[in-house]
Amino acid sequence: MTTNETNRANRANRTNEQPDVGRRAHVRIEGVGKVFQRRGQITEALRDVDLDIAEGEFISLLGPSGCGKSTLLRIIGGLVSNDTGVVTVAGATPETAREAKQFGLVPQAPALLPWHTVAKNVRFLTDLHTSSASAAGSQTVLGSAEIDGLLAAVGLGSFHDALPHELSGGMQQRVSLVRAFALGAPILLMDEPFAALDEITRSDMRYLLLDLWQRSGATVVFVTHSVTEAVILSDRVVVMAPRPGRVVTVEDVSLARPRSPEMEDDPVFHEHVSRLRTHLRESHSA
Ligand code: ADP
Ligand code: MG
Repeated sequence: MTTNETNRANRANRTNEQPDVGRRAHVRIEGVGKVFQRRGQITEALRDVDLDIAEGEFISLLGPSGCGKSTLLRIIGGLVSNDTGVVTVAGATPETAREAKQFGLVPQAPALLPWHTVAKNVRFLTDLHTSSASAAGSQTVLGSAEIDGLLAAVGLGSFHDALPHELSGGMQQRVSLVRAFALGAPILLMDEPFAALDEITRSDMRYLLLDLWQRSGATVVFVTHSVTEAVILSDRVVVMAPRPGRVVTVEDVSLARPRSPEMEDDPVFHEHVSRLRTHLRESHSA
């Protein structure tokens, strides 16, 4: 089965059990611009960004620090408003989508509650979600057994009752990932979630993330400044450049799914990496 078929099958399974509302995760970004003004200094964080994100797609925003990746992610998530252009999420505004709990957010630091166990940290938010989502009738979060399954899938099966301080940084970030997927949100926004991890842990996390994503059928918008990370994870890579923040090019990644560490030796992988590095270099010197 191709990725798209798998995602479609996953979604079909979910929509059988759940109301269909909010499962259409298509994001449309047209002519988006954003200017920040602080202490007399004006920063054009984004200029004229056009991008369509398909339902179930894994897309990465790649570029150097300051090119507007986080700003674009926050605009999609309804946390920052755009000055120009239009953003729609399944036909609605980002604010409406946010209120309807369409987004799961994975920040750079795991942000677990230190006094709750691993299992409680995952369930804490899903419990909040369940009460508000059932009131809105829009979303069903995963049940206990499914959450246990996810924790086991990321190698934390025997850490249910551990406290965050008893876990390594990588383990904490795995809990954070499971928590995001457990919410059942159709769109996950991830802002450099692996940036603080060591290289080996970081590599393992990529494949765990891909596994969780393929089970969920969710749409993922993933921010990174690592070229190799963007290629191994994504269906498409959006290359961005700073001053003003803008989209330089969008690259389709032609590696098959599921991805595996062996693919990092594939000539196709290296062609993508080399082409993207060239784009980044050219946009930097331009
Ligand atoms: P990236 O995530 O790619 O590093 P950001 O989206 O965080 O980039 O920032 C893009 C530009 O906008 C940067 O120059 C940053 O300093 C500026 N910026 C971001 N948020 C704000 C803000 N709230 N106020 C003022 N400037 C901001
Ligand atoms: Mg950022």
